[in-house]
Amino acid sequence: MTARILDGKALADRVRGEVALQADALRGQGVVPCLAVILVGSDPASSVYVRNKVAACEKAHIQSLRFDYPADVDPATVMARLEALNADDSVHGILVQLPLPPQFDEAAVLRAIRIDKDVDGFHAENVGRLSQGQPGFIPCTPYGVMKMLESENVPLSGAEVVVVGRSNIVGKPIAKLLTNAGATVTVCHSRTRDLAAHLRRADIVVAAVGKPRMITADMIRSGAVVIDVGINRIESGPDAGKLCGDVDFASVREVAALITPVPGGVGPMTITMLLANTVESAERRLAREPA
Ligand code: NDP
Repeated sequence: MTARILDGKALADRVRGEVALQADALRGQGVVPCLAVILVGSDPASSVYVRNKVAACEKAHIQSLRFDYPADVDPATVMARLEALNADDSVHGILVQLPLPPQFDEAAVLRAIRIDKDVDGFHAENVGRLSQGQPGFIPCTPYGVMKMLESENVPLSGAEVVVVGRSNIVGKPIAKLLTNAGATVTVCHSRTRDLAAHLRRADIVVAAVGKPRMITADMIRSGAVVIDVGINRIESGPDAGKLCGDVDFASVREVAALITPVPGGVGPMTITMLLANTVESAERRLAREPA
């Protein structure tokens, strides 16, 4: 069997088109959807992410506000900015790019964001809502993964799912979403005794580890659906400098039924769902307080 490739770029383009139409409809009702992005320091990866997010907003007809601070900024300055953005009715989403420098208490910063503007879905209240299956904001990467599975009508109810990775931003929320959707979910991590044995039982594998090509064909059941969240830079060999996932795409492709590539898989969906959450926030606000 050779797997079908789930093209995240094509799906992302489609969803971004829908988001732009929603943004236009909001503008027609006097509401300009707006995302505020805070970047502290000049970490190259964070700077690229923020630049990409701002550019994606523009293409989706969403206004963006960008606030840059030096790495040694007093946290009180950023907290004051958050308070102002919380109080500003024209701002629908607030995002603080992580990681923050060591003088910050990251959890406290995330808690300072109003939950109805927490479009990254990292506020403890939104995490709790997700856990209880209540409406809130879903973190963007897990939301993107769910959208990908939905776009392919992958049956979730009763499915055996193995999520590899238990981080707060990817592994745990994906496991919660899949559990809420009726899947039987096993979460594996660095202490898991026999990862391959778990993986071989899975109808669906979600890999979010950060280890290049660690999941190989011998660990995957024939006909499985494989979602690769990992983004790794290859350090040596013929592919040095290129990106790859946590899944050994070339070999796993020969046994799986459906697989996401890296790049061009989950990656493009993450920013897409940030845009979707921002427009959703603006729509909720309009429903609460018509313009
Ligand atoms: P973290 O480093 O926070 O978490 C990695 C997880 O993998 C941990 O739970 C860790 O276990 C587990 N792990 C590490 N080694 C092994 C192993 N040998 N076997 C099984 N599990 C292991 O990473 P993130 O969740 O933030 O990111 C994971 C990957 O996804 C990265 O490559 C990242 O770049 C990518 N990513 C991609 C995004 C996208 O848009 N596509 C967005 C966010 C991340 P333990 O908890 O025990 O340490």
